[in-house]
Amino acid sequence: MSTPTVFRDHTRTYEIRTYGCQMNVHDSERLAGLLEEAGYARADDGATPDVVVFNTCAVRENADNRLYGNLGHLRPVKDAHAGMQIAVGGCLAQKDRDTIVRRAPWVDVVFGTHNIGSLPVLLERARVQEEAQVEIKEALETFPSTLPTRRESPYAAWVSISVGCNNTCTFCIVPSLRGKEKDRRPGEILAEIQALVAEGVLEVTLLGQNVNSYGAEFGDRGAFAKLLRSCGEIDGLERVRFTSPHPRDFTDDVIAAMAETPNVMPSLHMPLQSGSDSVLKAMRRSYRQEKFLGIIERVRAAIPDAAITTDIIVGFPGETGEDFEQTLHVVREARFSSAFTFQYSKRPGTPAADMDGQVPKEVVQERYERLVALQEEISWAENKKQVGRTLDVLVAEGEGRKDERTHRMSGRAADNRLVHFTQDETARPGDVVTVDVTYAAPHHLVADGPVRAVRRTPAGDAWERRTAAPKGVPLGMPGIGRPESAPAAPSCK
Ligand code: SF4
Repeated sequence: MSTPTVFRDHTRTYEIRTYGCQMNVHDSERLAGLLEEAGYARADDGATPDVVVFNTCAVRENADNRLYGNLGHLRPVKDAHAGMQIAVGGCLAQKDRDTIVRRAPWVDVVFGTHNIGSLPVLLERARVQEEAQVEIKEALETFPSTLPTRRESPYAAWVSISVGCNNTCTFCIVPSLRGKEKDRRPGEILAEIQALVAEGVLEVTLLGQNVNSYGAEFGDRGAFAKLLRSCGEIDGLERVRFTSPHPRDFTDDVIAAMAETPNVMPSLHMPLQSGSDSVLKAMRRSYRQEKFLGIIERVRAAIPDAAITTDIIVGFPGETGEDFEQTLHVVREARFSSAFTFQYSKRPGTPAADMDGQVPKEVVQERYERLVALQEEISWAENKKQVGRTLDVLVAEGEGRKDERTHRMSGRAADNRLVHFTQDETARPGDVVTVDVTYAAPHHLVADGPVRAVRRTPAGDAWERRTAAPKGVPLGMPGIGRPESAPAAPSCK
């Protein structure tokens, strides 16, 4: 562990503000790891940090407005805090480049999605040269997984298996900002997972823009299913999840691997986007309604308890009333346990932004409300089927917190449903409790009776070690640190 490098008279502190998808959440863990390795320490809550890093998202139109708004608010804070530095990274930085320092000349560093490893050096260079540093690379320098990482949670970890995407969905800007798909070698991924399990991690989520095409880069179309099966052989790894798959590449070997590998969890996020074949064609999603419903049917046949979630965009250019009815039809058929629903918003630089037939806002709003109401009804009905079941729940930190008022704790069931259960003093985040579901709400389950059993795990021990760590010591190095979690949108829409 590096000793804090004292700048002038104190350890410089940092704060990272993360926007967008899980890829960004995981990139922020690396940015924190890089800064702590360079001697920075995380700023205490409420304290003014010496360095503020924005890890931006470029998905929606107002992403720009939000960034420049936040930078505007930070200017007087910087003026009042000698030595403060502001850095902007992520997809919006990759897109806007030096426009950012032109529009906000008080920004010190702009770095892209392909060179997050450069942050500490760029901060130092900006400080010494007293000049803004803009460094954007067109292609990935090193696979980010080789960078130091300060993980948010000691019991659940993101593990990248690929970056970038080879698809060209017409509403999406990711391929132009994160580049073509690059795959990590299976051995490297499995070694990282084994190291995480040795530190106490119980659950990993395999991460990629399109995890199903994993292996395309090294010519093995079956690589993803094999990777899932290999995860099944890692002792101590209790839960494996993955995000995001793409229906076009979702093959039966993956369904079989999910069904036959006990530690691969029965939860699947499968972005639909639209139920209409003509809209799917305009989106360049390379599958149609029938194929999508066929996948759902085969998953349910092989894994009857699977909880399936999705992403849906309402109001894509050219979407007619009949097209929207097709989306509602698929939602009724697929019976998703929940859905991330979005109103289409133009993304400059994407083909869809220039398409004819942009749907009026009020029409989009009306359709959106109908979709949300239908999905809410289905989510609740599907949750009600869980009442009376006995579930193993991985106790979470941050999601539910110990609620002194209701004396409840929270965690995730195997199918990733959120469960609030009666507080048990012996249960720690990272442990696994067994509870009986007594009530269902649209977006969570409740187990109001006494906890049946508490299984204390190495993950719970890791959480205890981390929360017991003295303040101000660079965290995230194996074994110590402070967890927090907030579910980000599963993928970029
Ligand atoms: S929506 Fe997903 S699959 Fe499509 S281009 Fe974007 S990242 Fe790739």
